[in-house]
Order: sequence, then structure tokens, then C-alpha cells
Amino acid sequence: MTRTPPPSLSLEERRAALEKAKESRRVRAEVKRSITLGEMTIFDAINDPREAVRRMRVIDLLSALPGVGKARATLIMERRNISPTRRIGGLGQLQLKALGKELSVGKVDPARGNLIVISGPGGVGKSTITNQLRGDPRFWVSVSATTREPRPSERDGVDYFFYSHEKFQEMIDSGEFLEWAEFAGNRYGTPRSPVDEWRTLGKHVILEIEIAGARQVRVSEPGATLIFISPPSWDELVRRLAGRGTDSPERRAARLALAEQEMAAAREFDAILVNEKVDALIAELVSLATA
Ligand code: 5GP
Repeated sequence: MTRTPPPSLSLEERRAALEKAKESRRVRAEVKRSITLGEMTIFDAINDPREAVRRMRVIDLLSALPGVGKARATLIMERRNISPTRRIGGLGQLQLKALGKELSVGKVDPARGNLIVISGPGGVGKSTITNQLRGDPRFWVSVSATTREPRPSERDGVDYFFYSHEKFQEMIDSGEFLEWAEFAGNRYGTPRSPVDEWRTLGKHVILEIEIAGARQVRVSEPGATLIFISPPSWDELVRRLAGRGTDSPERRAARLALAEQEMAAAREFDAILVNEKVDALIAELVSLATA
């Protein structure tokens, strides 16, 4: 039997790989040093998008905290059910929360995350934008509650929490919503406590909500950044709404009338971003949201 020899790297490729590994080691050492000196919190590291940091082991990061050390770090990880080989980029949401609780006892405070509201007329591409932000570790996208029926592709607890009218009313009565509004015959609301928890952990929280809800956030959270997503032109919006296809002429007319009202609210927002090229828009949005 003949065997193919393992692929060998050219000298150039080996040199590049060694350089990359050296740079990753440098970044990791710098992060650990900054944590030990208190120049950086562990939450800054968790939110750091650089690959070298995301591949760091959680245990190394915890051990670098002043007054923690390897033994206590191991104990914290065991108590919170985090595998000793887990890397930062692989931490699940529950594990992050658990770690946050543990460390707040140790008085390590992350800077509180910002609150960002994204609104705009139907058909402008808000969900494409929030879907992209979901993959960015600096952000947490809120999951709203609604009384509307799930669409075929939607999952409970992921796209929305689908609640009965009774359950939704109970949540209103007990003050569990940061904001809520009626839209096209259904109710939609932002559960308050996850927003607070994630902001405490240093995540910038994104709400993708309609205009009436945005106005409530403006009043209850004056520090929030309100961003309006606008289509490149009215004609383009009409085209995008028509592209959805399945609507009756009456339903389409109702949607256009609603979009007109929504467009009129743009000037109440802190920033208006035009959705012409989605990548450029996201870059602008990220810089506003993380400011
Ligand atoms: P859809 O039913 O198409 O998913 O959403 C309809 C509208 O409700 C969209 O404009 C969406 O931004 C808005 N919406 C979704 N969740 C919330 C929420 O929690 N609060 C408010 N006020 N609006 C929401």
C-alpha cells in the first residue's frame, strides 16, 4: 500500500504560521497582564473580538485576576460547571451569567453596557441587521414577548417568547416590561430583567422595536441611543414591501400607510442610518452603539 506523505508547508508558510503564533502569545500575555494590573476587567476580555483573546482559556483569564490565582479559579469553574479546557469564545450565555454573579461577589465590576434601540418602517431590513449583531460578542439582542402567532420558521425563546393574551397582561400588571406596544393587532414587549442583567455584565443590549416602544424607552432610559433605519428612498421601500408578495391589495395599502407614519417619526431619533449597503450601515451602527 502506498501512503501519501503529510502535506508539508513551504518555508514561507511555516514562517507565517510561527509569526502568527508569536503574535497570539503576545496578545494573550498583554491581556493577562492588563487584568492583573486592573487596567482591564475580565468582561473587557470576554467582549474582546480578537481571535487570539477568544481562544484564551477561561481558567488562564480567571487566574490572572488579582487575589484569585489558579486554585480559586479552578474552584469557581467547578462550582459554575465550566469545563477546565473551555475557551472564552466557547462560553455559553448561562455560563457567562454565572461567571458574572461569581465575580461581582469578588468586586470585579464591568463597565455597564449601553442600551440601543433600533426602529424603522417594516421592510427596511431591521432583522437582517440584528441577525448580524447576534454574532458579535459585544452585543446581546433582546428577545421580545408577543401575542402574535409564530411564523413557520420562528422558534419560541429564540425569535420571540410567544405568550397568550392573559400571560402578556399579567406581565404588564407586574411591571415586567421595559416597554410594550400594540402593533397590527398584537402586543409586543421587551422583558426588563434580561436587559438589566446583560448590561450589568458589560454587554451592549440591542432592542429591535417599533416607534411607540422606542418613545417609551426614550422616557424611561434617557441614556439609551435611539437609531432609526431608513430606506434609501420611499420608492425603494414600496418596492421592498411589494417584494414580500403574498399580501392582498388592502393589506399592502395598510402596510404602506403604516410605513408612512413610521417614516415621519425619524426625526425623533438620535441618529438616522440609511440602509443602502448593509455592511456600511452595520459598521456605522457598531460605532454608535459602542461609543
Ligand atoms: P413582526 O411581527 O413583524 O415580527 O414585528 C412587528 C413589529 O413589532 C416590528 O416593527 C418590530 O420591530 C416590533 N417589535 C418587535 N418586538 C417588539 C417589542 O418588544 N416592543 C415593541 N414596542 N415593538 C416590537
